[in-house]
Amino acid sequence: MRLPYAEPLNVLKLDDPVIPEPPRRGEPGGEPCGLCGGGATAPVWGDDLFTMHPPVGGSLAGVVWVASREHVDSFRDLSKEALAAFGPLAARIENAILSLGDVGRVHLYRWGDGGSHFHVWFMPRPLGMIDAQNFMLPLWEDVLPNVTDEELRAAAERVAAAM
Ligand SMILES: [Zn+2]
Repeated sequence: MRLPYAEPLNVLKLDDPVIPEPPRRGEPGGEPCGLCGGGATAPVWGDDLFTMHPPVGGSLAGVVWVASREHVDSFRDLSKEALAAFGPLAARIENAILSLGDVGRVHLYRWGDGGSHFHVWFMPRPLGMIDAQNFMLPLWEDVLPNVTDEELRAAAERVAAAM
């Protein structure tokens, strides 16, 4: 794996901790939850527990993100039913993304630092893109030229159709 930046890089001094942390979207004092407010991209798939959405402004066709229907924060907050369903759903999505072809591996990311509504990213690492292994994939995804939002949605629809 390799950083998508030229050497030499300088390590910055870490900022002092910000405590309490700024509110996230969907938390008291923060901006409204985009998912609950209908501001997210229209889902390409959904069931009673989860919806699956395409990203916008991205460089990797085949990326999708999955959100819970219920406004909860993280895995520990999901209903028992949703928690039990997430594993099988993740496997279905992984298989569907791999079926697109030319995918080396499917990465899952759950950060939760931006919005407080449970969502998990599924990101295909293109086959042979060794530079983007491990935690480098989001960095490369950020610097590679974007594809159109229409391409991102079309790929997400192919993922949904393959589930
Ligand atoms: Zn929400």
